[in-house]
Amino acid sequence: MTGSVVIAGLGPGAEDLVTPEVRAALEVATDIVGYFPYVARVEPREGLTLHGSDNRVEVDRATHALQMAAEGRHVVVVSSGDPGVFAMASAVFEALENHPEYHDLDIRVLPGITAMLAAASKLGAPLGHDFAAINLSDNLKPWSLIERRLRLAAQAGFAMAFYNPRSKSRPFQFGQALTILREELGDNVLISFCKDVTKDGQKLLTVPLGEATEDMADMRTVVIVGNADTRRVGPHVYTPRYAPTSSESA
Ligand code: SAH
Repeated sequence: MTGSVVIAGLGPGAEDLVTPEVRAALEVATDIVGYFPYVARVEPREGLTLHGSDNRVEVDRATHALQMAAEGRHVVVVSSGDPGVFAMASAVFEALENHPEYHDLDIRVLPGITAMLAAASKLGAPLGHDFAAINLSDNLKPWSLIERRLRLAAQAGFAMAFYNPRSKSRPFQFGQALTILREELGDNVLISFCKDVTKDGQKLLTVPLGEATEDMADMRTVVIVGNADTRRVGPHVYTPRYAPTSSESA
């Protein structure tokens, strides 16, 4: 019996934003693997086993998915948003590197709508020009590298989207990130805090960098920083598509 591993993105939260392709994969799965709250988004049914796990055990979880597929099961590994953006797809391939015996398994990645794109659509078009996506968590990389990337992305005139901006175990680093951004961009560039995007209680807040405070972000927030040309038009926030003055001055 040939099993499979499908690594699927569930989108940012709204049921309407789960793709038909992902829905179809969930319907034929025998096993769902992932972080508890994401596994909880899958409707239980007969013949489907849900394997929720803690969020720091990605490679163990991925190895388990590969083992089950090798036994003939149809496993769907779920992530929120897109599985390739700071999520399970890379973890599965990391696990695969350690297990040559699984190299010929049927493994597929199904995209989802990532948080920054869902948030950008609610704001208007803040990512309409070049941008960088940065994970502010230092679980898997040193904080010094994050600071360097922030500074260079700001100097290069990129708009930015920050994932995992601030957690209980990392309460102060987001404040340091704001300080770096103000040093590089000044006080007037717009920053948007987008919490629970497409979910009940969605909150969007856009302020100039000079008014941003660290408590505006938490782990349910994706943060979008504009470039020097990002502006408001009516209630919307957008970045023009033409070369920004920020890139000329960079
Ligand atoms: N793979 C996911 C990202 C996982 S990292 C994706 O593509 O969206 C987890 C971080 O994503 C959170 O800390 C937060 O910054 C962001 N995030 C995920 N869903 C979100 C939502 N509905 N609203 C706001 N931010 C969200």
